[in-house]
This record gives sequence, structure tokens and C-alpha cells, in this order.
Amino acid sequence: MSLELTGVKEWGIKNERPIMIAGPCSVETEEQVMQTAIRLKDSNLDVLRGGIWKPRTRPNTFEGVGSIGLNWLKDAGRAIGVPVTTEVANSKHVYEALRAQIDILWIGARTTVNPFAVQEIADAVRGIDIPVLVKNPINPDLSLWMGALERLNKAGITKLGAIHRGFSTHGKSKWRNKPHWEIPIELKRQIPDLPIIVDPSHITGKRELIHPVSQKALDLDFNGLMIESHITPDKALSDAAQQITPERLIEIKIALLLRDSTTSNEAFLDQLEELRDSIDSVDDRIINILAERMQIARQIGECKKTNNITILQKSRWDEIFTKRKDSGVKVGLTEDFMKDLYMSIHKESIRQQETVMNDEEE
Ligand code: PEP
Ligand code: MN
Repeated sequence: MSLELTGVKEWGIKNERPIMIAGPCSVETEEQVMQTAIRLKDSNLDVLRGGIWKPRTRPNTFEGVGSIGLNWLKDAGRAIGVPVTTEVANSKHVYEALRAQIDILWIGARTTVNPFAVQEIADAVRGIDIPVLVKNPINPDLSLWMGALERLNKAGITKLGAIHRGFSTHGKSKWRNKPHWEIPIELKRQIPDLPIIVDPSHITGKRELIHPVSQKALDLDFNGLMIESHITPDKALSDAAQQITPERLIEIKIALLLRDSTTSNEAFLDQLEELRDSIDSVDDRIINILAERMQIARQIGECKKTNNITILQKSRWDEIFTKRKDSGVKVGLTEDFMKDLYMSIHKESIRQQETVMNDEEE
């Protein structure tokens, strides 16, 4: 997909890598947002964030201070000389944010899921040269994320970025929102010039995990971080468990290792090339072995066809699934990886047998 993009250099922010966006989940009082900004100043942040209208999962929780907070946020940003950003979810939010001279807008995860809402926002910003950051939708659907970016781009927004904040899951998980790193990585592959900011606060939901997830984001060469910070995190009116003090944020920022994405070191490049050649040849062998395995699956298909036996033999599949998982774990592969791998191999094997048994065209 090709989008017409304007690089972050022209967005009026200081650092291109990593871009640091920080500030409270919600703007609560004029004093709170000003104090947060002042205490964050030494973190050399690029953008001050603050939610004004909060999309809360349940009613009867704090839903944001509303428009009155826009000027508090703007004044706090101006006091430390950085642009400010807030979430907009409809055209009224856009008009009010623009009127208050908010510098950057973001679209929240619960809005990205809804093409009508995204279109309404795109129409409201049409013809205005303002950066817009689009959070991923709450469900792991890359097309929906890209669709939102396309709608904004079609409305003339070229200062576009994405925010990876993880995806909702059902059941118990270490994460508040599961990262599914493969999805933002694929977004980067499809739109290489699109800046992608990682939001470890909403991915983890816990302040202890902000540091490791931030480091992972930088190691995966994403372009920046959006971290929630509050002067008294435990008293925050929203997302208390994941917010950190400005001082803790500065500590994390200093501890983060910023690795180079490229180098001109010849010795390293030679060594890397050699190792990549080895990977290429192992991959060739993997593919040939898979083809061999599928060929045997087709022969099994022929036998089953002759004897009129069903494709799926549940006990055999159970046995393979358990044994292969255990063998993989023994050699240091994770259980999750083995599960995904064998689900995928089995799916292809069934497809191959189906084509043989039903004389289907491939
Ligand atoms: C937020 O940034 O505070 C927020 C509500 O985020 P999300 O849309 O990712 O849930
Ligand atoms: Mn939040």
C-alpha cells in the first residue's frame, strides 16, 4: 500500500529516534498537568500527551474533564516548549482540539475499529496540516488499522503515524493487551516510511513491565514510545497501575539502549553476511523437508481414499501434537512456537490430502 507521507522531521518535534511522547493517561486538573510537564522536562520528551475525553470500558468511571482541559494541556506543553497531543473520537472533539491549538491528534483503539467514526474524523481534519497518530484497533486486524490510515491520507493528512498499543484478548494473560509484535512488524513492511510508536503502558497495564517492553520496542527498531506518566500514579483517575512518575520515566529513558539500525563496520557486516548465508541454506532445507513431508501426506491421502477413511484421525493428530511439542521444548523451542508450527503444518497436510481425496484442482 502506498501512502503519501511527510516525515517526522517536519512535524515540529526535536528527536527523530526515538520519538518520546509522555504525559498522563488523563488530564485531571490544571495543576496536575502543569506539574507533570515541568517534571517531565528533563526527560527531553518530544510531545506531551493527555487524554481529555476518555473512552472508558464501563460507565460510572472517570470519563475525562472534557474541553475545559484542552487549554490546561496546551499551556503545560507551551511552558516546557513541546507540542501537545490528545485523543479525538468524533468531529466535535476534532473541532474543539483544533480551536484550542492542540498540535497533534491521536485516534484511540476503540475508534480505529469503526470505519464510520474514522471517516467522520478524516472529514473533520480534511485540508488541515496536522499530524495524526492512529492507534491499532482493539482486535488484531491489520486491515482495519491500515484502512484508518488510508482514510486519513485520502483526506489529505500526510503527517501520519501509527501507535502500537496491543490487542484485547479473552482470558488470563500477562498482558493487558497482547502485543502480537508480528502485526506492527507487518505494518512496517507494508508501509516502510510510516513512523510507528509503541505504547508500553497500554500493552502491559503494569508499571514494572514498561522498561522491558520499551527496550523491546527499540530493539525491533520502532520509531518511538508513548508512555503514561502521572505525578502521583497511585492516585490517577484512570489507568493507575500502569502510570509511572516523571522521575521513573527519566530513569527508564536513561537506561534504554539505543542500538544502531545499520553500521559500516566491515568485520560485522562480513560476519553477518556469512551467518545469513547459513540461514538461507537452512531455510532451503526446511522447505525441501516440508515438501517431502507433504508428499508423504498425499500418499496417505491416496491410501485413505482407496479405503474410504476420513482425513482427520483424531488420536493420531493428538499424538503428533503432543509429541512434537515435547520434542521441540527439549531442544529449547517454546511450547507456543511448536503449537503454532504444528497447527500450520497440519492445516497444510489436510489441504494436501483433500486435493488428493477429492480430486480437487490446486
Ligand atoms: C489512552 O491512550 O489513554 C487510551 C485510552 O488508549 P487506547 O485507545 O490505546 O486504549
Ligand atoms: Mn490510558
